[in-house]
Amino acid sequence: MTDGIPAAPGTEKWFREGPDGFALLAGRCTSCGALSFPPRTIPGCPDPDCEGLEQNPEPLSTSGTLWSYTDAHYAPPPPYPRPPDAEFSPYALAAVELTAERMIILGQVAPDVPNEALRVGMIMELTPGTLVSSTGVEERVWNWRPADHFEDSGADVEAYSAYSSASEEASA
Ligand SMILES: [Zn+2]
Repeated sequence: MTDGIPAAPGTEKWFREGPDGFALLAGRCTSCGALSFPPRTIPGCPDPDCEGLEQNPEPLSTSGTLWSYTDAHYAPPPPYPRPPDAEFSPYALAAVELTAERMIILGQVAPDVPNEALRVGMIMELTPGTLVSSTGVEERVWNWRPADHFEDSGADVEAYSAYSSASEEASA
């Protein structure tokens, strides 16, 4: 699964990829067990009542429920980094509540998933994504995409499969 794309700067310890699969990495307090994501870069527990100073990296579960989402149809203004000479492509942001940890993790929705396929409450899964930096370099990030087995209404499945087959035809 590792294809050599480096993590976006500053996120090197936020996820792992390799033989054990792609997963976000939280920090777990060695004193009280509190989880924080992203992992803290300064000593100390996120729980103000805990005096623990150390955290161990721990993979988070890779699926959850779509808690909310929004879409961006205009390019953010400078100095927001953008690939050079690239046309802006609308994208969606998802807030996904992890099933096991009950933490809400923001992330971009995979670019091939249309907004019409998204429904609050549907099951989402973590997947590796790629951004292109302002200097044109590919960087690894994480994306969310609807899980293959939708547990929501059939309308979602139809919207998603209709879009998928349409884009396959377009690219054929
Ligand atoms: Zn703690």
